[in-house]
Amino acid sequence: MNWMTITWPMVAAACLTLGLIELSIGLSHHPRAPRLLFALSAFTVACVSGLELALMRTDVFAEWWLFTRFLDTAVGIMLVTLMAFIWVYLRTGRKWLALAVPCLYVMGLAFDFLPWAPPGSGMTYQSFSGFRLVETFGGASFYVAEGIPNPWNVFPYLAVLAQIAFVADASAKLRRSTGERRATVVGGAIVFFFLCGGLQAALVDTGVLDTPYMISWAYLPVLVAMSIELNADVLAGARLAGVLQERERHMDLACSAADLGMWTWDIGRDSIWASRRARELFGYSASESIDRARFFRSVHPEDREVTDRAIEEMLARDMGYEAEYRVLLPDGRTRWMAARGQIERDGSGKPKLLRGVVLDISARRGTELELQQLRSQLAHASRVSMMGQFASALSHELSQPLGAILRNAEAAELFLEHDPPDIEEVRVILADIRHDDQRAGSVIDRLRALLKRRNFAPRALSVSDELANVAALARSDSSSRKVRLEIDAAPDLPAVMCDPVHLQQVLLNLIINAMDAAESVQAARRRVTVRARSRGASEIEVAVSDSGPGIPPESLGRLFEPFFSTKADGMGIGLSISRTLIEAQGGRIWAENNAGEGATFRFTLPLAESAKPS
Ligand code: ADP
Repeated sequence: MNWMTITWPMVAAACLTLGLIELSIGLSHHPRAPRLLFALSAFTVACVSGLELALMRTDVFAEWWLFTRFLDTAVGIMLVTLMAFIWVYLRTGRKWLALAVPCLYVMGLAFDFLPWAPPGSGMTYQSFSGFRLVETFGGASFYVAEGIPNPWNVFPYLAVLAQIAFVADASAKLRRSTGERRATVVGGAIVFFFLCGGLQAALVDTGVLDTPYMISWAYLPVLVAMSIELNADVLAGARLAGVLQERERHMDLACSAADLGMWTWDIGRDSIWASRRARELFGYSASESIDRARFFRSVHPEDREVTDRAIEEMLARDMGYEAEYRVLLPDGRTRWMAARGQIERDGSGKPKLLRGVVLDISARRGTELELQQLRSQLAHASRVSMMGQFASALSHELSQPLGAILRNAEAAELFLEHDPPDIEEVRVILADIRHDDQRAGSVIDRLRALLKRRNFAPRALSVSDELANVAALARSDSSSRKVRLEIDAAPDLPAVMCDPVHLQQVLLNLIINAMDAAESVQAARRRVTVRARSRGASEIEVAVSDSGPGIPPESLGRLFEPFFSTKADGMGIGLSISRTLIEAQGGRIWAENNAGEGATFRFTLPLAESAKPS
């Protein structure tokens, strides 16, 4: 045991240690290639170090020849892995120089493996002549092989020169373009390694220097350079972790201030992570594992389909996830939640993660519900008041069939008194009575439908039918006011999606307003026209025009405001309610003055799904 047998293994151990560290980082973190290539080069240098030690301790020819060929091969592998490392680590370099390295080295290495050449004749020596024992300081000694140098040994040295040029060029290029420190530190250390290692090997090969090969020693600066870089990476990582922690604290603060719960759904593994607040909101325990099926079990059965559709749509298309649904809590209560999320895809575009937040919106929903109830009460009140305006016309409408029934009944009595009774005539009279009764019944039915307090219930319906119903109600009022009421609905109008009572209410309100306006002109010119037409492929437009004085410009912008009225006995809520009702069905309502006389009020309604062209 002397200083030589201790120091070479120490160099090998240093290479192995850093190699293992780089290997473990490379296996678990991206980018992998530079770390793994560097680990491979460090392991190869550890082998080189072992072979250098073996060569200096042997004076057996067969062993020397075997170790020499191993060493030459290991050096070749080390050259190529370092070249590849620089290529991926600095992400630059000249291709032709990189390719020259393995080509030139293989041309020299081939001499070690020529099948016809005698043993000992290889890359370094043409022929081997013997060993010489060299004494050195500290009482240590080593063997040096001697022989006639092979002139083709120039190839591996050219490979080393190509390598130096390649690394120096790549480092300088990166340094110039980005000023990155690693270009100087790592690139410089590798250039130094090849310069010193190559020069020292050349001097030993030519017999100028009486030392063992010390290629592995020259690698030590590379180890130091990589350790510095690793250290810098670790420090940067620690700094980043600090920044992330700070951000996380900010995020937590923001979430708790906004009362948001956070969640992440790992789509591949079907597992959902939920923050403490999110678990509280859904009624999950702290340790309960959550997947898609568990989440759906906690969603209210009536809302499962919409929630599922929102998720599927988001997965299929690149859109954000937005859903509002009720959650069933373990104690039987329900809670309204609003969820927003964003999808994250992998490199191939496949959905990977869905991240988002949930918010308890029960309070807002409660207020909305109350507001909706108030609105429907107001709409009801407005209908009742509208019917009040109709009262006299309607009593007239009802008195007609009732009077006819009375007269017919009296006539029937008379016919029955005949001897023999005129049964045929009585039958005709009874048919008339039935017809009049049905007429009166249908007026009462329509009124009852309008006056009943009920909830919003949209369905597919025909605008023409509803127009006919409303016209039947308004007809007697219009004739008593001497206003011509014309209904013009295009035949075969597609069905719209709407609540029938709401639609009738809006139509009645617009028609009554139009008749009010028309009444202010001469009786002969009083006219109200209601037209219904298709508008584009997805809507129907209804227009109520009158021959009145039109809308004063200063009122145009205020017509739909609540309590805006220019009438002495007006409440000013008809148009504002009409707007609420139409917008609730997904339509729009507006007013304009006609080019000639009067004004036109228009509204649109979306077509029912079944009526849309496919
Ligand atoms: P009200 O009929 O009780 O006044 P509305 O909300 O139905 O309440 O109407 C508000 C106002 O809009 C009316 O007072 C009137 O000034 C104006 N208006 C409505 N329809 C017409 C119309 N066809 N022509 C001119 N002005 C109209």
